[in-house]
Amino acid sequence: MTNSPSTAPELLDAVVVGAGFSGLYMLHKLRAQGLSVRVLEAGSDVGGTWYWNRYPGARCDVESVDYSYSWDEQLQQEWEWTERYPAQPEIQRYLAHVADRFDLRRDISFDTRVTAAHYDEDTARWTVHREGRDPLVSRFCIRDTGCLSVPQTPRLPGLADFRGPVHHTGTWPESGVDFSGQRVGVVGTGSSGIQAIPVLAEQARHLTVFQRTPNFSVPAMNGPLDAETLRQVKATYPERRRKARASPSGVDRGDTEQNAVDVDEHERRQEFENRWGKGGFSLLGAYADLMLDQRANDAVAGFVRDKIREVVDDPDTAERLLPRDHPLGAKRICVDTGYFETYNRDDVSLVDLLESPLETVTADGVRAGGTEHELDALVLATGFDAMTGALNRIDVRGRRGQQLARRWDAGPRTYLGLGVAGFPNMFILAGPGSPSVLTNMVTSIEQHVEWTARCIEYLDTNGYRTIEAEAEAEREWVAHVNEMAAETLFPRANSWYLGANVPGKQRVFMPYVGGLTLYEQKCEEVAAAGYSGFVVK
Ligand code: NAP
Repeated sequence: MTNSPSTAPELLDAVVVGAGFSGLYMLHKLRAQGLSVRVLEAGSDVGGTWYWNRYPGARCDVESVDYSYSWDEQLQQEWEWTERYPAQPEIQRYLAHVADRFDLRRDISFDTRVTAAHYDEDTARWTVHREGRDPLVSRFCIRDTGCLSVPQTPRLPGLADFRGPVHHTGTWPESGVDFSGQRVGVVGTGSSGIQAIPVLAEQARHLTVFQRTPNFSVPAMNGPLDAETLRQVKATYPERRRKARASPSGVDRGDTEQNAVDVDEHERRQEFENRWGKGGFSLLGAYADLMLDQRANDAVAGFVRDKIREVVDDPDTAERLLPRDHPLGAKRICVDTGYFETYNRDDVSLVDLLESPLETVTADGVRAGGTEHELDALVLATGFDAMTGALNRIDVRGRRGQQLARRWDAGPRTYLGLGVAGFPNMFILAGPGSPSVLTNMVTSIEQHVEWTARCIEYLDTNGYRTIEAEAEAEREWVAHVNEMAAETLFPRANSWYLGANVPGKQRVFMPYVGGLTLYEQKCEEVAAAGYSGFVVK
């Protein structure tokens, strides 16, 4: 474990773990309330998931003008996004700008990995242990570690024997990777793979894509943001932000209340076509029942499959790329630039692992279905131990020394996604049990940060020392989250939302599917009732 302190450490009001979108705003907000805060960040700079995910083609699938903070009018007026969808370097620059503009860095320790956080019931304090440094002691422990921050590397047989470099998209080297003249293999066709593949195809001599499950992807229709569009957005920012916060998905997708099953096929196709042309998640807002009724979902899925057939020249390759095993949207839909078109290149091959299973990685490549694919480099776009990975990899102990990871053996249990029974004064931001990954993360993060900051202010103003979720409220919330998910098509996919991508991980649907609007209402009711469902002492 950790070094013992030579002198009693100073008592902080809050330790915040993680300096991504969530941790930075949390720091700013609590500091404004006069609290002493230290942010601990494993990376060497701000950014969180955007710091690590710097693979070629990395780009957000939410539009830049929406995937940004709304809490400072000056900031949103002065920052100039250059593209409709921001690429990783631009998001990184934006967050670095925020850190500098609000003088956040002086309270952030970079290159600092948290190993443990233990709660002491007698003093009502958290001791937060850091790798190679003295521990910190604080009243509140705030977990801003992100949902997609622990890369998942599959145990591919023979991987250690491969002679060339192996890179995971989630921990890409800061210096970049030069693939020119190389034969590159990519394993994984989720959002990361689908973004990286067209760019890698440009760079490599030959690209081989090893696909296990085909995925639905919609075109981003990305492009430069012109001055007039930006001017209009900025002129109407308050209204745009209000609408986003009041939308179930945390961004205004132009959702309708009409059901696809009530509309004739011709009209439905026309609506899908219009939204396809707009690009991005707009398609998901076309009808209210797309994630509720299999017939509605079949209609939109069929539309996307037809689009794939139109784009991909070789009919056999097109068939292999058609997603058929899950409802559209039940796995996070991907947003791409030229993904399916990439398979029309002569220097790109698709290996269908369902047809030709991956047998082994060898020193010189990958053997699948009896065929050797010679490679100089391998890219793993194989995803994350999502939602609970970062929370459980730290040894967190609450009252009576109980371990969070053990308590969550059968899946994460939270009240509102924010608190855990037995773990007083610990807040989880945008984690399991909250809408988080099913929404525009920045909107959800802002809601969580503001709720948490207000909660701490309430405790301090009223002389309370601790807040802790009640076991019964937590039980009811977990049941509610599960019931809501069961009413949708989401559980019909083997997705990371369910933990299905990590061998041995308990299958529990983790995010709250009810949408941000309902969720925020519930959080507000809880606060207005003096934090009902929590014990405040
Ligand atoms: P992912 O969606 O979990 O995809 C992982 C891919 O790796 C899947 O195709 C999976 O196949 C494959 N895979 C895993 N283990 C394998 C194995 N042993 N053999 C063969 N294939 C294997 O991960 P991701 O693409 O990194 O995306 C995760 C999430 O991050 C996204 O859903 C999204 O929320 C977020 N993200 C967002 C953006 C953006 O904003 N544009 C970009 C990247 C990521 P199976 O499906 O068969 O398991």
